Amino acid sequence: MSRSAVAAMTAYTLDLREADVKLNQNESPYDFPRELKEEALARVLDRPWNLYPDFESLALREAIASAEGLTAGNILAGNGSNELLAAAVGTFVGPGTPVVFPRPAFALYEKLITISGGLALPVDFDPDSGLLPVDEMLAVIAAHQNPVSILCSPNNPTGGVLPENGLDRLLRSGAMVLFDRAYCDFEEGGPAGEPALCSNLVTFRTFSKAFGLASLRVGWLESTAENCREIRKVKLPYSLNIISEAIATIALGNRELRDAHVASIIAERRRVLEAMRAIPGITPFPTSANFIAFRTPDARRMFEALLARRVLVRDVSAYPRLKNCLRVSIGSPEQNDAFLDALREAL
Ligand code: PMP
Repeated sequence: MSRSAVAAMTAYTLDLREADVKLNQNESPYDFPRELKEEALARVLDRPWNLYPDFESLALREAIASAEGLTAGNILAGNGSNELLAAAVGTFVGPGTPVVFPRPAFALYEKLITISGGLALPVDFDPDSGLLPVDEMLAVIAAHQNPVSILCSPNNPTGGVLPENGLDRLLRSGAMVLFDRAYCDFEEGGPAGEPALCSNLVTFRTFSKAFGLASLRVGWLESTAENCREIRKVKLPYSLNIISEAIATIALGNRELRDAHVASIIAERRRVLEAMRAIPGITPFPTSANFIAFRTPDARRMFEALLARRVLVRDVSAYPRLKNCLRVSIGSPEQNDAFLDALREAL
């Protein structure tokens, strides 16, 4: 018998469908260049595969630290930011710990809180303004002892961001803030300043989105050396394999490639948003991410109608406050055109 908290949960799922134009998982439309793949594999071929990797992932952590102006002691690298989110929740959330988070948000947060036995305190908000509900979160934080807060900005699946000074206000509340920055590279004008290290902040980043390496499963977190030491006690050792580590290190050495891809995604996002706003019956929400959530007259019918036109999007209509909403990732210009054409036809 599983624990009752687990028995009551549902597993992470995805509507797996075949489609030529795959815009359902906020992936990058740009594959890693063949010559860099070959460089990475050549590096890995020179390593013995019978020996465990460096469990400290020091080479990658040093490369990240130098790119971020930090030291390796402020960085943990892991098997996707999912793994590090789980380790951080395991570090800071125990039975009964109050955990405040906006909803709708990344569904994993609520699962991790439930597994840890924390007290989930969702703050439901409407995505129309494009802003996360900081005032409401602060009110819930103030009503609880030693709270933890989990949020991402830009938020998945709505695309909205924290209002100005939102992070400072959350940090000043004294709550432990787990701040997921999976989509921060797509903010207009670049990430709005990396937050300075402080004892109640842990920031999570990923190679899956802007770097376009979702298949490799690499993420990192940034925090004070003390927090990193604590989270490292919970994180599984050896979770990052030598292939992923080598490729992520090479990706960091080729940041101009990532920057060019991000610039193209931001430009396409502007174009797609404008086109969607001109389509009667479609209401896209403001977004700073590599995806757009939008309201339709009937989400299920629209999902199937787009799929019949070879375009796969994400049905997010089961989330609170997202009735009849879908989410489309920003793809290449050709993919985005295919989506827009399908959307117009489907209506
Ligand atoms: N945070 C958010 C908000 C996400 O949307 C995702 C991926 N869907 C992740 C974290 C997980 O990223 P990773 O691939 O690094 O595990």
